[in-house]
Amino acid sequence: MENVSPGYHHFLEVWHQIMYIAAGAAIAVGIIFLIVHFVKLAAIKTYKGKYDYLKLNRIKAYQFFFFSLAAAVFFFGNTIGDATVGKSLVYIFVRLFISLCVGVLLGYIVYLILKFYYPTFLEKKLTKLRYTPRISSAGNEMKLLSEEEEDVHLDEGMQAEENVFSVDYDVWVDEETGEVHIEKYMGYLEALECGSCGFRTLKLDREEILKPATEEEEGKLLKHYKCTYCQSVRTTQHTIAKILKSENDYKLPTDYILKGQRKVKSIMVEIISTKGDKKEYFFQSTQQASEFLQNFDFDKTDDGVMKF
Ligand SMILES: [Zn+2]
Repeated sequence: MENVSPGYHHFLEVWHQIMYIAAGAAIAVGIIFLIVHFVKLAAIKTYKGKYDYLKLNRIKAYQFFFFSLAAAVFFFGNTIGDATVGKSLVYIFVRLFISLCVGVLLGYIVYLILKFYYPTFLEKKLTKLRYTPRISSAGNEMKLLSEEEEDVHLDEGMQAEENVFSVDYDVWVDEETGEVHIEKYMGYLEALECGSCGFRTLKLDREEILKPATEEEEGKLLKHYKCTYCQSVRTTQHTIAKILKSENDYKLPTDYILKGQRKVKSIMVEIISTKGDKKEYFFQSTQQASEFLQNFDFDKTDDGVMKF
């Protein structure tokens, strides 16, 4: 009261007007940004297109939206406590500081949720988009070829790519017409579920070639994963397929096997009795082998021939 100059109350009125407008503008900008995000997403026709768009933009869009809300809280905070602030110019700075702290805190909470908690939900959505059966131009449901999780396909063209080892190709085939769709996914962007903390924050950190693949021989690749939340690490070993001589990005393997089946040529089962007798059996599929093992009885065998 004592130190307040005559113009102070008028200044406060203008200040509050500005803050209200700024708060409203921040909310409006946030909402418009979010709407644009959803409209763009809805306009994308293919699953792969939606996948790429969400992967790149979803977290950024949410971040922008919630940061706008936090900014609105900051602006609105600068209009609270009129009676107290009216007493002295000092209070306007106290209020400014408190509003800033609250706004930053809210922004930080949103940042943490979007960085560590939200990716679990986003990845589930992305996984669904990636593995939803594609429809060929003939209208048939396409089949996804076996990923051969431990198998990394490289050819000369792909080796030139910078992140070559982290490129994942999904090959969709229309079994009736033979139409093929190849979709490319970046391994570095995929987040897996961390075995230690359970969040979907396990990301590929780096890759290391133990043995390069040649045209004749398969190679070996180590993938080092690190959790961005709990920092735990995991390493997996992968086989690098023999180098394919081709001009194209990816050549459909001639012996392709549909997902769920295994690329098994033959299986050998060796059974050694307590007496030291050895018997070997060969099978063409794991199913045959497991049926055999379920029915196996050492005493019913003679001359290494099993009778079913
Ligand atoms: Zn973790």
